Amino acid sequence: METDQRSIFSRIIAGEIPADIVYDDDRVIAFRDIAPKAPVHVLVVPKTEEYSDVAELAAGDPALLAHVVDVAQKLATELSDGDFRLIFNTGAGAGQTVFHVHAHILSGELEEGSLA
Ligand code: 5GP
Repeated sequence: METDQRSIFSRIIAGEIPADIVYDDDRVIAFRDIAPKAPVHVLVVPKTEEYSDVAELAAGDPALLAHVVDVAQKLATELSDGDFRLIFNTGAGAGQTVFHVHAHILSGELEEGSLA
């Protein structure tokens, strides 16, 4: 039996799994985290499956990384007061669980002991 090798985020991008989408363009999608760690907790996800983490993205497509940051800044202004943390967990030892590069936007008071 074949298993689906795509990430959970690719399935959200394909519309196969529902998500609370707050932004969508040809290169990235942004949706609310299913287990929010702050009043605003949004994931900004490049649509390409090519990069598993931010180091790969920075090396392979720095313009796309800059776009992720730009979208994050605009969303933080729209959804909160404009101040935000931008976190890329990179590697399992740093808490990364989905190996399809994504940025966490966190705005407002964090859940105790949590940085996403
Ligand atoms: P990581 O730990 O890889 O940096 O972040 C993965 C994030 O994806 C976690 O904060 C987790 O709550 C979120 N997440 C995992 N599965 C889903 C899902 O199906 N839908 C949404 N909206 N978020 C998810």
